[in-house]
Amino acid sequence: MKIPHTFEGLIEKGFHIFAISTVRYLLFAGVAYLFFYLLFKNKWLHKRIQQKFPENSNIFFEIKYSMLNMVIFGITGMFTIWASWHGWTKIYAEISDYGMVYFLFSIIAMIFVHDTYFYWTHRFMHLKKVFPLVHKVHHHSLNPTPWAAFSFHPIEGFIEAGILPLITFLFPVHPLAILIFLLFMTALNVLGHLGFEMYPKGFTKHPLLGLNNTSTHHNMHHSLTNCNYGLYFNFWDKWMGTNHKKYHETFEKLAAQKASSDTNTVIKETVVLSE
Ligand SMILES: [Zn+2]
Ligand SMILES: [Zn+2]
Repeated sequence: MKIPHTFEGLIEKGFHIFAISTVRYLLFAGVAYLFFYLLFKNKWLHKRIQQKFPENSNIFFEIKYSMLNMVIFGITGMFTIWASWHGWTKIYAEISDYGMVYFLFSIIAMIFVHDTYFYWTHRFMHLKKVFPLVHKVHHHSLNPTPWAAFSFHPIEGFIEAGILPLITFLFPVHPLAILIFLLFMTALNVLGHLGFEMYPKGFTKHPLLGLNNTSTHHNMHHSLTNCNYGLYFNFWDKWMGTNHKKYHETFEKLAAQKASSDTNTVIKETVVLSE
């Protein structure tokens, strides 16, 4: 059913975006939480990045702010749709308009544009005067769980959500490509906040795999703050010299740990994230 281009129609669209964003968040973060924090908590304990598990009050905090941002995603989506109704965006309706090759290219382009946008807006939010107003909420999680994926102050929520309208103004994108991009973004965001390092030894030093960030990378950002700002890829942190000097070392120690029958010994050996 085609939704009319009216104010009521726009509200309906905004509600759809809110609902889809919420389901996406609850599903990805929920599945990760179920496997890593409930079902296989002990089995994968040796993969735990920070020894301790966060208090439930921290998890409620993360869910509360993430849910608030689902509303902000709905509002930003309404703005994007309103702009597209006026012909101001480059959203197109038929995949055949630009072909399949372009469709796939546009997804990759969105990921790279977002990676750059995230790195620089993140650096901006870490400026001394900006941090307490905008980014402190996200850093409330010193030991994040998958639920922290969208735990932002509302101002940060609008900054993070801003990537989508920006992309639709920059280059042609199909709604299905946007959906695939958002699924990828949510999955990787949840992975960054997982709290467990599941990648194998040598990952960060591998010429190709090492271009990607790891759970350890973003976990260190939460516990140590002024390092490791990147999202999907490690380019910007490498180019700008913002990787923590012990990033590779910390990752290797975590990746090398083996499951032990005496789990407590393993926990004691878990890398302590400190300067
Ligand atoms: Zn940060
Ligand atoms: Zn984070």
